[in-house]
Amino acid sequence: KKAKAKDKNASKSQAQKTAPQALTPQTGASLFEDARSRLEDVFRELDIHPDAQARLMQPSLSLQVSVPVRMDDGSLKAFPAWRVQYDTSLGPAKGGVRFHPDVNQHEVTTLSFWMAIKCAVVGLPYGGGKGGVQVDAKVLSALERERLARGYIRAIADIMGPDRDIPAPDVNTDAIVMGWMIDEYEHIVRAHAPAAITGKPLPLGGSPGRVSATGRGALKVLDLWAEQNEREPQETIVAVQGFGNAAYHFARLASERGYKIVGLSDSSGAIYSADGLDVAAAKQDKDQHGQLAKSQAGTQISGEKLLALDVDVLVLAALEKQIHCDNVEAVQAGAILEIANGPLTSDADAALAKRDIPVLPDVLANTGGVIVSYFEWLQNRAGETWSEEDVNQRLDARLISEANSVLTRAEQENITYRQAAYRQGIERIAGALMARGNCL
Ligand code: GLU
Repeated sequence: KKAKAKDKNASKSQAQKTAPQALTPQTGASLFEDARSRLEDVFRELDIHPDAQARLMQPSLSLQVSVPVRMDDGSLKAFPAWRVQYDTSLGPAKGGVRFHPDVNQHEVTTLSFWMAIKCAVVGLPYGGGKGGVQVDAKVLSALERERLARGYIRAIADIMGPDRDIPAPDVNTDAIVMGWMIDEYEHIVRAHAPAAITGKPLPLGGSPGRVSATGRGALKVLDLWAEQNEREPQETIVAVQGFGNAAYHFARLASERGYKIVGLSDSSGAIYSADGLDVAAAKQDKDQHGQLAKSQAGTQISGEKLLALDVDVLVLAALEKQIHCDNVEAVQAGAILEIANGPLTSDADAALAKRDIPVLPDVLANTGGVIVSYFEWLQNRAGETWSEEDVNQRLDARLISEANSVLTRAEQENITYRQAAYRQGIERIAGALMARGNCL
């Protein structure tokens, strides 16, 4: 039986080598169903007009494209890709573009839904959007990645723009990719249009502070929560799942602030040190070897073990659905901070609530990135450049007012932080939807 399975794999990998990139089956419908189920909770409790309820149940625009890329070896690959605008009643759609082999329409739709909620939670004049290309970007050369980024923009150019839909970085995309994308867009429209994309390199109108903004914002939310609970950073032990851009800057800034980071992980494995890890050394190892598992900065442990560490705060900064009904019971952390989008399934979320483990939810905790994207868009439209200090101060000020209002609401209404954030966001979106009139 074993041998047979092996054969099957061998022929599969052979087929993968020769066959053109095929659309993987549309798994993940449940992700969107799961995400949308949080709306029903809000609809039950708040007086949201049925018209607004109906409109919020599905995305307003969903575009699937194929992005052909000439590979360095002369062959042609066509990558399936999407851009989804979930709701645009508060403003143009806003959200990143991810390059990942598991990207599919349901995932992009779900991520665009979360963008709509999070922009509203922190009071940005934006709707929610998201893009994705189903690709393993890590095996592409730099030139192949550039062709892919440009091809993606050519494919979606008709539906984007500073007042329509504004892409940004997400998983496996960064300022360099945004530089290629804005250049392609400006060629298409034959004009400078820096506000059409955020997260750009500084010379193209990127904002100081954008690269570390998601991590910085998440730390601010953690600080505000710690303050409310009279907890000092120095007495707070933290483990972080993920070591991408947001996770790294969070870990770096949090340890500077005095939090003790005892665990870090990436897709290769995890490292642990009870005395606290040197985040800079771990980052150096990751840059050198491409894998955290090879780092000497701490003892090797498995990724699953990291999720079960007995810490004060477990930070989830990798991908969706990391804690689910099968591993939620193993969680021993005192609280969860979500930097990734959707790292808990709704049943895991419910199980944690039952155990009184507070969760600082994604739609609040990871808004630092999109808030500073908004500042970048404002600077581009005004032709200004703000100092990093100014950007950071404005980010803090917005989070202090919006996050505190979520934390206070949770306490007053005796609901979870996620419920409070969703209520704040949905009220704002529904208000804009209804103010637009009734006749369609
Ligand atoms: N990709 C980030 C997020 O999920 C940032 C989006 C943006 O800056 O528009 O929030």
